[in-house]
Amino acid sequence: LDTSRTFWELVERRAALTPDRPVLLQDDRTLTFEELRAGAERTAAGLHDMGVRPGTVVAWQLPTRIETVVLAMALTRLGAIQSPIIPFYRDREVSFAVHTSQAEFFAVPGTWRDFDHTAMAERIDARGTFEAYDTLPTGDPASLPAPPTTGTDVRWIYWTSGTTSDPKGVLHTDRSLIAGGSCLAHALHLSEADTGSIAFPFAHIGGPDYLVMLLLYGFPAVLFEKFALPDALEGYRKHGVTVAGGSTAFYSMFLAEQRKQPNVKLIPTLRLLAGGGAPKPPEVHHAVVREMGVKLTHGYGMTEVPMITMGSPDDTEENLATTEGRPPRGMEIRITEGEVRLRGEAVCAGYLNPDQTTEAFDEDGFLITGDLGHLTPTGHLVLTGRLKDVIIRKGENISAKELEDLLHNHPAIADAAVIGLPDAERGERVCAVIEQTTGTSPLTLPEVTAHLRAEGLSPHKLPEQLEVVDALPRNETLRKVLKYQLRERYSGTVK
Ligand code: ATP
Ligand code: MG
Repeated sequence: LDTSRTFWELVERRAALTPDRPVLLQDDRTLTFEELRAGAERTAAGLHDMGVRPGTVVAWQLPTRIETVVLAMALTRLGAIQSPIIPFYRDREVSFAVHTSQAEFFAVPGTWRDFDHTAMAERIDARGTFEAYDTLPTGDPASLPAPPTTGTDVRWIYWTSGTTSDPKGVLHTDRSLIAGGSCLAHALHLSEADTGSIAFPFAHIGGPDYLVMLLLYGFPAVLFEKFALPDALEGYRKHGVTVAGGSTAFYSMFLAEQRKQPNVKLIPTLRLLAGGGAPKPPEVHHAVVREMGVKLTHGYGMTEVPMITMGSPDDTEENLATTEGRPPRGMEIRITEGEVRLRGEAVCAGYLNPDQTTEAFDEDGFLITGDLGHLTPTGHLVLTGRLKDVIIRKGENISAKELEDLLHNHPAIADAAVIGLPDAERGERVCAVIEQTTGTSPLTLPEVTAHLRAEGLSPHKLPEQLEVVDALPRNETLRKVLKYQLRERYSGTVK
């Protein structure tokens, strides 16, 4: 694949190849590749009339809808810089994102859910706030300047999840996003006959990444404005989804649904669950494969590098369960003192804040990820945790992930987060926070440590504190556990 090409070139090429095939399916609506191209061009003309030019920053906070994808492609047609903002973000995060990116325009869905963007937009003084929900700006494509020719200019500003600190603005080019999407496409071996689904916000970095795959293969995906099981199953069934994606919380949600009717295949056409973005305990992998009768492939990505590695459906179950797959050609992985570093086409151009860029790249131009891992002799990547997620008790390093995986093997534990808490005597102590399976009675610390011992955990890693919660705090996008909140909550506690 020639990664110097732009998003718009991909859109045009696909529209010429298979104009009438559907690309987006939502409720009872279908958009074809040619309709996507033509719609984006009309919208680009409308935006141009409003004053959007190549390089103009346009932020948008829109739900996952056909119009949102059309708007995003209209912005690529113009060569504007777009900054997608996760739908769940509220005043504080949105103001931060819009101000920091110096957006001149801000596309919002009007009043949406409980959140009045219009009022907020006035407060944050975004001059060019416009609505983009049922209708999009429109104009005459004949008035448009030529589309951009280079794929290496910064055209996207994304925001990290803010798991470890305030969200960072990440700079991407069409080229880096296309490289990420190509990685996904190559690993999954999909075809024109597939039907995918976007169950996460299109405003997430995975959105355009997924779109690249649709443009390369020419198959459609189902969009969900509000994704929740069991209702979403209807959409999957109606459109005959063959490949569904999401994070670990998404597989667990499917699994819980499957367990209500163990003998009925939830989605008859589904053959592959492909996702990533958060740790996936091997136990969850095996349960999904066994009980749902589908393949499960999992990958490693981050806002800075949308797709780093991805499991391939042809790989062995062992590799699929215990690794994140292999990197595609063009992605270099280097492990330095246990930490993953990355260089390649899919790596972002840097951060909005130049100091963060300087800090994040090493002297050879590798991005320092903060993730811990190693490569197996077959070149598969195994992630073992985050640097900030290693608990150091009396000078001994303890991996939170190791404990979490073992906790998952307990039938009464639905999910677990292991954190280090400040401890005067030990430096840090180990605290396990668990969410229990519905209908089970609360576990005690001795029961939990007995389980971990039985699983073979060495005694020096055993937790000395247990907290049972109804629900772990999670971010809204990938349902990732927000450990910093747990650390804050339990820091003062003594056990
Ligand atoms: P911030 O950088 O603001 O603290 P964040 O790193 O959580 O937030 P994202 O870019 O959304 O924001 O998440 C990327 C991170 O998610 C990776 O660096 C890694 O720690 C984790 N991650 C991604 N994929 C996987 C995976 N397959 N297994 C385990 N962890 C993963
Ligand atoms: Mg990060």
